[in-house]
Amino acid sequence: MIENSLLAALPRRAYRRLLAVLEPVTLVFGEVLYEPGDAIRHVYFPGASLVSLLTLADGHLALEVGLIGREGMVGIPLVLGHSESSVRALVQGTGPALRMASARFRNEFHSCLPLQHELYRYVHALMAQISQTAACNRFHVVETRLARWLLMTHDRVKSDQFRMTHEFLGHMLGVRRVGVTRAAQALHKRNLISYSRGDITVLDRPGLEAAACECYEVVKDMHDGARDRAGIREPAALSLHP
Ligand SMILES: [Zn+2]
Repeated sequence: MIENSLLAALPRRAYRRLLAVLEPVTLVFGEVLYEPGDAIRHVYFPGASLVSLLTLADGHLALEVGLIGREGMVGIPLVLGHSESSVRALVQGTGPALRMASARFRNEFHSCLPLQHELYRYVHALMAQISQTAACNRFHVVETRLARWLLMTHDRVKSDQFRMTHEFLGHMLGVRRVGVTRAAQALHKRNLISYSRGDITVLDRPGLEAAACECYEVVKDMHDGARDRAGIREPAALSLHP
């Protein structure tokens, strides 16, 4: 069962046709799907997996600028007519996804109007997320950004528990390990999360929402609003073999 809401929002006929060319895969924590400049060989529709988009600076500094889960697709440059990635796409949550070869995706994209509509809507929401993240990284303190990041992850994996190391979180938030440790300890002290050896558990979701910067709600509203305006209901999960 793959619960990608972008695919699930397609009319049943279009979805069924795509099923024939979508291949189920497992994305594994730490796997790099593309580096900047790489040709995009496949697009990915995550289920409970998570992919982080990282911008690199000075060849070795990485900062997360976008997070893609069940609401979206990895490989957006293809939608805009480009075949290379400008960012690193790094799997930061192990889980299932559906993938499609790029050549096939181009054909499907050009011949399927509902898929085009869904992807244009998603590109807009992703751009909003990336813009907000730029402001967030500059203006908001680590603790509120960590709370925001945990909420975004919680929404996508739909589980109270997920794995994440301090080193990885440092990359996500663009801070040193010690900064991540302090922020995680502060949230832990407030009983909002527990954190043990890379296992994070969300204990108090409303409390975490109160602790996060406003960027969380702004981006969430953008995703939800685009969906509501398009008259799309949050779909039930679709089986791979309906
Ligand atoms: Zn923020």
